[in-house]
Amino acid sequence: MLIIQKFMKITNFYLPTLKEAPAECDTVSSKLMFRAGMIRKLASGIYKWLPLGLLVLKKVEQIIREEMSNIGGLEVWLPHILPREIWDETGRWNLYGKELFRLKDRKEAEFCLSPTAEEVITDLVRYELRSYKNLPKMFYQFGVKFRDEIRPRFGVIRAREFYMKDAYSFHIDEKDAEEYYNKVYDAYCKIFQRCGLNFVAVEAATGAIGGKFSHEFMVIKENDEGFVGEETIVFCSNCGYAANVEKAECVNETKDLIDKEMQKNLEEVYTPQMKTVQEVSNFLNERYEKFIKTLVYVEDNFKNVYLVLVAGNYEVNEIKLKDVLSSGNIQLADSELVEKIFSVPVGFLGPVRIKLKDNSYNLKIIADYSAINIPNAVSGANKKDFHLKNINFKRDFDVDMISDIRKITKNDLCPKCKSKNSLKFSKGIEVGHTFKLGTKYSKSMNATFLDENNKEKYFFMGCYGIGVSRIVAAFIEQSYDEDGIIWHPNIAPFLIYILPIDYNDTDIKNVADKIYKELIDKNFEVLLDDRDERPGVKFKDADLIGIPVRITISKKLLQGNSVELYIRKNKSKIIVNIENVIDKIFETVAMIEKI
Ligand code: ATP
Ligand code: MG
Repeated sequence: MLIIQKFMKITNFYLPTLKEAPAECDTVSSKLMFRAGMIRKLASGIYKWLPLGLLVLKKVEQIIREEMSNIGGLEVWLPHILPREIWDETGRWNLYGKELFRLKDRKEAEFCLSPTAEEVITDLVRYELRSYKNLPKMFYQFGVKFRDEIRPRFGVIRAREFYMKDAYSFHIDEKDAEEYYNKVYDAYCKIFQRCGLNFVAVEAATGAIGGKFSHEFMVIKENDEGFVGEETIVFCSNCGYAANVEKAECVNETKDLIDKEMQKNLEEVYTPQMKTVQEVSNFLNERYEKFIKTLVYVEDNFKNVYLVLVAGNYEVNEIKLKDVLSSGNIQLADSELVEKIFSVPVGFLGPVRIKLKDNSYNLKIIADYSAINIPNAVSGANKKDFHLKNINFKRDFDVDMISDIRKITKNDLCPKCKSKNSLKFSKGIEVGHTFKLGTKYSKSMNATFLDENNKEKYFFMGCYGIGVSRIVAAFIEQSYDEDGIIWHPNIAPFLIYILPIDYNDTDIKNVADKIYKELIDKNFEVLLDDRDERPGVKFKDADLIGIPVRITISKKLLQGNSVELYIRKNKSKIIVNIENVIDKIFETVAMIEKI
C-alpha cells in the first residue's frame, strides 16, 4: 500500500493544531480540518493540504484505486491544461459557462483548466482504441480539477481546486456499457463502505456532463440538523424510491382542468407596492395555488429571454429548466434587468399581454404544468402596482413550451409508486456520480472503432467521478464529537497514538519506544507523541486529530506493569498488561469497526 508516513514521532512530524478555527470556517468539518492541522486556505476555494490531511486523502485515494482496479480499470494521467478545440467539438466551451477557468497562451491560443475530462479521454481513445478487440476498456485517473464555483464554501467540500477520481469506460454497445455501469455502481458502494461513510445512491440530474441517466452517491446523516449537505434527497417511505430533488419528476395533472363555464372576466386590481405572492395573496385573500408566479431568466448573451411560469405554491427547478432549454447559461434576471427588458418592475409581471420594451430580445414563454391548469388565476398585470384576476390559459395567454420545471414538494405523489403523503426529504453531500453517457461524446467527437464486420461504430461510454478531497470533509461531517474528529480505521492518518505522559522520564520513554517499535514491526501505522508538552495538551491533540486507538503510558500505570488503551469512538478505556499490548491492539482494532 502506498502510504507516505506509516509511523512518526511527532517532533519529526508537523502537527500545527489550533485551539480555535479561523472565524471564516463555515462548517464543522472545515473547522476541524483547520484545527487538526490538515489544511490551510490560500484563497477562496483554494487550499493547501498539510501532512496530516494528505495522509487521509491518500488513504481514500488508495481504497478507490483498489476498487477501480478490481473492476478492470487502468490508471492513466491526463493533462490539466486543455485546448479549446476539443471543447468546441462537443460544444461545451460555450455550454460550460463561467465555471470553466479559461486562459490563453503566449500565442493567444485558448485553453481551459480541466474541470472534467470527457473530451480529453474521448480524444485519446479515438486515436488509440481502433478495433472492437480493444474493448471494453476503462481508464481512470486521480487529478486536480478546477471549477470556478459561483459559491466556494464549506472548506474543501465546494472548492475551486479539488482532487477527483474520474473514470471513463468504452464499450461496443449499450448492453455492455449498461452491464459495466452496474459493476461500477457496486464498486462505488464498496468504496464508500470501506471509507466508513453512511450513504445512499440516488437517481440524479445529468447537468452539464449530459447523458441519459445518472446516480449520485450521497453522504447522509440520521439526524441532519447542522449537517451541511447542499443536496436534498427525496425518499418515498412506501416504495423506497430515492432521488435528488433536482431530478425528481413531479406527477402532474396533464388533463385540462379549466372548465370553460366557470371562467370569469379578467379583472385588474390595484395592488400598490405588493410584489410577492405572499403580499398579494394576503391582500386578495386568495390561496398561493391560485397564482401564476412569473420569473424572468436570461441567457448569457442577453438576447434570449425566458418568461417562466409556475403555480404560486411551487418553486422553479433551475436544473430542469436548463435541461428543457438545453442551456447551462441562463440565470434569473435581477430587478434592474427586468425593468430594462419589459419596462415593468419585478413583482408585477404576468403572462397576459406581456411585451418587450424593444425587439433586441427574443422572448419565449415556458410554463410548468402547474401554471396552465389554474382556473381564474392571479398574476401581474404587466403594469406597476397592478395585478390581474381571473386569468385563464388559452383564453388570456398562450405559451411556447409546457414542461415539468418545478421542484417536488412533500405534498406531491411519489413519482414511482404514486402514493400520497409518503415523501420525506433529507440533506446529502454528493461524493460520487456515475453517468451512462451513451454516444453523446463519441458522436460529437467522431470517436469510432471498427466492429467485427469492419464497420465504423461509435463507442458507448460511461463516466464515473468521485470527489476524493470532498470525501475527507464529508466523513468528518458524519463522525465527530465535542473533542474533535473520530476517524474510521480505514482512512485514519494513523491507527494508533502512543501518549507517554512524560517522555523525559526514562522508564516511560523506554516502554513507549518499545511499544512503538513493536507496533511498527507488526505493520501498524503509529504516531508517538514524544513532545515535551503538558499531558493535557497531548490528550487534547490526540482527541482532536481523531486517531482510533490511544495507548497511554504513565508512571502510575507502569507501577502495575500496565498501560491504558483508549478507543476514540466510544471513549472506552481498558488497562492492559504491557506484555499483552500487541495482542490487545489486534483485538481492539478488529472490534472498532463494529462499534
Ligand atoms: P456538484 O453538484 O456538487 O457541483 P457535480 O455534479 O458538479 O457536483 P461531478 O462533475 O459529477 O460533480 O464531479 C464528480 C465529483 O466531484 C462529485 O460527485 C463531487 O464529489 C466532486 N466535486 C464536484 N465539484 C466539487 C467541488 N467544487 N469541490 C470539491 N469536490 C467537488
Ligand atoms: Mg458542480
